[in-house]
Amino acid sequence: MLPFQLVYHPGYDLNLGDHVFPARKYRLIHHRLLEDRFAEPADFVEPKAASDDDVLRVHDPGWVHRLQTGTLTAAEIVKLEIPYSREMVEGFWLATGGTLLAARNALRQRIGFNIGGGFHHAFPAHGEGFCAIHDVAIAIRALQNERLIKKAMVVDCDVHHGNGTAAIFSGDRSVLTLSLHQLNNYPSQKPPSVIDVNLLDGVEDAEYLDRLDGALKVAMSFAPDLVFYLAGADPYREDQLGGLSLTMDGLQGRDQLVFETALAQAVPVAVVLAGGYARDTDDTVTIHCNTAKAARDALQ
Ligand SMILES: [Zn+2]
Repeated sequence: MLPFQLVYHPGYDLNLGDHVFPARKYRLIHHRLLEDRFAEPADFVEPKAASDDDVLRVHDPGWVHRLQTGTLTAAEIVKLEIPYSREMVEGFWLATGGTLLAARNALRQRIGFNIGGGFHHAFPAHGEGFCAIHDVAIAIRALQNERLIKKAMVVDCDVHHGNGTAAIFSGDRSVLTLSLHQLNNYPSQKPPSVIDVNLLDGVEDAEYLDRLDGALKVAMSFAPDLVFYLAGADPYREDQLGGLSLTMDGLQGRDQLVFETALAQAVPVAVVLAGGYARDTDDTVTIHCNTAKAARDALQ
């Protein structure tokens, strides 16, 4: 048995068909972790869908209603950049329930791991960039509401800036947002995070790890009760939507650095996956599975 649970539900697959966002990756990761004997069936736990009360602590009621009733405008669907379906909406609610469960697990077991989530481009009243609702923000507000945490920190290592996260927590001193991303990439408008690390095109492992280490050292003085780690696979050099040049080893070094830095200060970590669009989807699956391995190693 693993020292932490893997939160997963078959409904995470957003059924997007032949889309650049390989939403089937969640199912492939579940399969690979079992096939490699990294995990046993008993290591997995299925979340319940997030409650509407949880979602509405972050999101505008009109946006939630239009998602749930299939009444988004054509412009809203274009901005979301994925086709609308009932399964898609259910997938977001399930993955958000998964992020909340992973966060609760992290508080008990030091690490919580959702094989999904990381929808950092969602805003309170609109979605964009494949993100309909902001699972991490919803989980933070739920845990704060239950008085389980006071301060949270978001460490966003997806190659794209965490614009939704920055906007939602702007001016909120209880949440430190850190985004390490490629400057010349989506989104064009980057509302400021508390700490933004703007990387130039083509940055390689050594510089990336050095910049991350420096940012984490500053950020951890915030002394959060919980870290949410967005372990995007898209800083990988073979990514179709990313322009950085990290290797698989570099990405695993990144994972180690985040886990070791947080756990050294006894701060638990809830992992969510965020993006990953490698030319070969198997590479994206490998990178995400390696994050689970780094999590296990960090607890040993
Ligand atoms: Zn991304």
